[in-house]
Amino acid sequence: MEITSAQFVVSNSRADMCPDGNLPEYAFIGRSNVGKSSLINMLTNHSKLAMTSSTPGKTLLINHFLINNSWYLVDLPGYGYAQRGKKVMENIKNLIQHYVLERIQMTCLFVLVDSRLEPQKIDLQFIEWLGENSVPFALVFTKSDKQSAGKTKQNVERFLDTLKEQWEELPPYFITSSEKKTGRQELLDYIESVNRT
Ligand code: GDP
Repeated sequence: MEITSAQFVVSNSRADMCPDGNLPEYAFIGRSNVGKSSLINMLTNHSKLAMTSSTPGKTLLINHFLINNSWYLVDLPGYGYAQRGKKVMENIKNLIQHYVLERIQMTCLFVLVDSRLEPQKIDLQFIEWLGENSVPFALVFTKSDKQSAGKTKQNVERFLDTLKEQWEELPPYFITSSEKKTGRQELLDYIESVNRT
């Protein structure tokens, strides 16, 4: 698939206020600073479609972008903002839970994981919660340009091995770099293939 049009539609602080209709939604989530905004901008070929973490407020909302007039790319708030205080953390958690569990249009949730790090507890816990709730998801390893291909492969394998301890089947996964546009076509083709089924 190629993206021919991408436009911002709406930001919401409540999952039940997201756009009506039955267009499929592909949502993106991950820890703060994992590279989510950069990935969304890279996928859509826009330098500033998704606001980066440095934009106050924006990252606490659910942002809908209409792609090719046929599906929504959904930018969810990042999880794990320890520095933001208990109340804000609780609000973000509720917002994510409502969207992920109740949004029937959500076709796949892309969970972003920093390819440079060893498996992080917060990511593993989130993925476990997705499994318990039968949420369809795929993994996106980010920032692969920041280290050698060998090191990325090693970290990805380590992450998948950790999942294998609990899961019979592994989710689809993608290795990406927003800097080098790595993984872009694979991810878009995956969305297209899921959209067709
Ligand atoms: P978000 O909080 O998940 O939306 O993260 P951002 O997209 O704002 O990225 C956080 C930081 O990581 C920024 O300084 C980005 O420039 C940097 N970054 C994100 N993706 C990549 C990547 O693929 N390669 C490199 N080298 N840096 C990246």
